[in-house]
Amino acid sequence: MNGKLIVFSAPSGAGKTSIVHRLLKTDLPLAFSVSACSRSKRPEEINGTDYYFLSPAEFRQRIDNKEFLEWEEVYPGSYYGTLKSELSRIWKLGKHVVFDVDVVGGMNIKKLYPKETLSVFVMPPSIEELEARLRYRDTETPESMAKRLDKAKWEMSFADKFDYILLNDNLDRSTPEIEKVIERFISE
Ligand code: 5GP
Repeated sequence: MNGKLIVFSAPSGAGKTSIVHRLLKTDLPLAFSVSACSRSKRPEEINGTDYYFLSPAEFRQRIDNKEFLEWEEVYPGSYYGTLKSELSRIWKLGKHVVFDVDVVGGMNIKKLYPKETLSVFVMPPSIEELEARLRYRDTETPESMAKRLDKAKWEMSFADKFDYILLNDNLDRSTPEIEKVIERFISE
């Protein structure tokens, strides 16, 4: 089968993780690319399901071993990357790969596989709404919150480099919208 890649990028707090979780519960033949990262695990996260949590030293070792398709220092001191092994794992299952990566990572995957990739930018309704969502999540310290907001504003400027901009005003509306787009893309 010709496996495709569906990349979701957005400023964090735009709701892309919720959209991805919903999509994975539909009947579409999709599977999630579990990224590696060097930040610490949040209480609700599961190692090997949400991320492969690695120490900074292990992460560097895998960079040296050329195990990553792409990696980024998404926040100072926090590394995130897509393992090449995720693509072969998922394609072997006969499924298409869904990524939840930062904006730069998304653009890099599109560059690596231009024809096979659908890149989706999830747009929050506004910066105020984004801030409210991050506050509600309550995992941020005031400093990490300020860092994330600054970064969010910068990331929004790349929206038009993506194949599709999905306004996430409401998950019940945005998820079926992108589901239809993906259905068409994977049947091409
Ligand atoms: P969080 O710490 O909130 O889980 O994620 C922070 C950011 O890192 C999010 O924008 C997420 O999409 C991004 N991210 C997660 N995995 C990867 C990856 O493999 N590569 C890149 N470039 N970014 C990633």
